[in-house]
Amino acid sequence: MALIPNPDLRRALVERIRYYNELGIYDFYQRERQISEPSPAAEDAVLTTTQPEQREEMSPRKSAAVAPIPEENIFEVLTPKPEQQAIDPVAALKLIREDLGDCTRCKLHKQGRKQIVFGVGNPRAELMFVGEGPGADEDQQGEPFVGRAGQLLNNMIKAMGIGREDVYIANVVKCRPPGNRTPERDECDTCSPFLMRQIAVIKPKVVVALGAVAAKNLLAINAPMAELRGRFYDFMPAGARTSDPNWQGAKLAVTYHPAFLLRDPRQKGEAWKDLQMVMKYLGLSVPGNLSR
Ligand code: SF4
Repeated sequence: MALIPNPDLRRALVERIRYYNELGIYDFYQRERQISEPSPAAEDAVLTTTQPEQREEMSPRKSAAVAPIPEENIFEVLTPKPEQQAIDPVAALKLIREDLGDCTRCKLHKQGRKQIVFGVGNPRAELMFVGEGPGADEDQQGEPFVGRAGQLLNNMIKAMGIGREDVYIANVVKCRPPGNRTPERDECDTCSPFLMRQIAVIKPKVVVALGAVAAKNLLAINAPMAELRGRFYDFMPAGARTSDPNWQGAKLAVTYHPAFLLRDPRQKGEAWKDLQMVMKYLGLSVPGNLSR
């Protein structure tokens, strides 16, 4: 805390950090600023303008007169994520689930959910699928993709020559939106830090975003499916340590949500092209057409 000499500001920052930790947010990045004499107004600005969603990597400071910023973010040192204590991804995912608790962080908790649908599958999976949110069957059973769309996803995974138990499956929001409506922006923003932490722990080689909602939330870009599909994106979940020598991020591909494919089966061929692209990257042999 040597960079924050003002005790009131320091206390306020600690309180603010605790508040964000409660929301599941542990990573904070400071915008680069011109260094002259620090003023109280500038210190206040740290509190009022540096929001967690304005994440930027720290850049080296330009002035040699200022103490160098340590490699590791000072706030990470202060508030390590619970899963950073874990020795393996199984334990780490358990700690993230415990941190989520009986979550009431967004309004979906009071809109009829039966339970939180955390995620399922291999904690060391090379391939991860991310949908938008649980439906009625998932809410009932506490597992993502178990209804009709889940059956189709299982078929898609099988067509790739692997099993559901080989991959990890999760959603952007972990509680069922009422009437299966699309999760709203504030709900996605509140819940997605937990998904990002799950991805950072699993360290997959490839993440497949199922549908536009998942794609837009993971990539933070707003584009139609036609533009999002057909290519890989370099993906590093927000808050993951870029210095981890064992994982430099995943490739992210976008394909149609299985529920959409049930409504419009003509698009299955297009989805299969997306999966073939993923299979090639993962070194899986590419068989015939996607089974129905
Ligand atoms: S959707 Fe996510 S943030 Fe909202 S209440 Fe459920 S678990 Fe909490």
